[in-house]
Amino acid sequence: MIATDGPFVPTYGRYPLTLVRGAGRRVMDADGQWYLDAIGGIAVTALGHDHPAVRTAVRDQVEALLHVSNLYRVPVQTRFAERLLEVMQGAAVFLCNSGTEANEAAVKLARKAHWVAAGSPESGESPRTEVIVAENAFHGRSLMALALTPRAKYQAGFGPLPGPVKVLPVEQMAGAVSESTAAVFIEPVQGEGGCRPVPSEVLHALRAACDRTGALLVYDEIQCGLGRTGELVHDPRPDVITYAKALGGGLPLGAMMVVNPDLATTLGPGDHGSTFGGNPVACAAGLAVLDTIVADDLAARVCTLGRRLMDGLAATGAQVRGQGLMVAAEVGTAAGPVIDEMRRRKVLVCPAGPEAVRFLPSFVSTEAEIDEMVAVFAASWRTVRATP
Ligand code: PLP
Repeated sequence: MIATDGPFVPTYGRYPLTLVRGAGRRVMDADGQWYLDAIGGIAVTALGHDHPAVRTAVRDQVEALLHVSNLYRVPVQTRFAERLLEVMQGAAVFLCNSGTEANEAAVKLARKAHWVAAGSPESGESPRTEVIVAENAFHGRSLMALALTPRAKYQAGFGPLPGPVKVLPVEQMAGAVSESTAAVFIEPVQGEGGCRPVPSEVLHALRAACDRTGALLVYDEIQCGLGRTGELVHDPRPDVITYAKALGGGLPLGAMMVVNPDLATTLGPGDHGSTFGGNPVACAAGLAVLDTIVADDLAARVCTLGRRLMDGLAATGAQVRGQGLMVAAEVGTAAGPVIDEMRRRKVLVCPAGPEAVRFLPSFVSTEAEIDEMVAVFAASWRTVRATP
């Protein structure tokens, strides 16, 4: 049977639900039924669906200026970039529209840095191209980002992919870094891999290995960044961090932020670009997101809510893992029926692997909403277990 999806190239497996409106942490379907959104557009709507700061900033920018391209300066784009560097302790940023593009820019930066270090050979070829990634990593779907996403279900049919890419369990990555390595990519908390925090010793070992060999350390914080783990910045500091998802508050906005000041001007005029990258409306939303996260100390709030969510889920008997508001509950059977039952009971979640349910709630959730997620999970899991 060929799966179809109306007018679309059928790349998505969609749930049977049509959403038309969002308010707070809830979304409304086409029949007027409201659902508690515990997945937030897969870690996008960290401030919920109608945060006044984001709405006002977007509305004002829509009225002022929609788009002019990167041939010109736009004040809101500069203000957003400066705020990002200040809050996330960066040296320079390239703005784009998605996580995949942010990672693509990071690979280009790494290749060029090694090309320059080798005296800019005339061939134009970088002498160091190897990238090391973790098992179960997810870094996106363009050919380069797909090459860094080592799972057959994503890669099948698309080879040959750019490389070389070495794939290792996180504990073995540092030992594999050599003078052929251009960069190491790591999610400090793996997202699509199942909400798995990478041990701090592993990040420190990777930092040391990269310092020893000159490889770039890149944190993919596309899903786990901006406070979702309860921390705004992750230690030790990498050379580059990529962001997207929550950054634009629901609008497409990605960033490849250079942390290491020595690399801030490695990519020069003409080396990279994006027509929509740093679009003024997306930047206005991004600035409101950053300002709100800082002003309302939402990273601390994430810690409190995350503890409540993890404790509540653990009390149901599920095996729970994650950090902050990036949480997976293992159900010991296929996750799909539990997710479907939760949706029937008006809470939206998604899988974190074949037998785990993933929660990525908004940072501005209430305690009552967290408790509702837990209660609906518990009841749904019970129902599924009781169903022959
Ligand atoms: N990196 C991580 C850790 C992600 O979770 C994702 C998306 O799920 C991506 C990269 C790709 O981001 P995008 O879908 O915006 O291209």
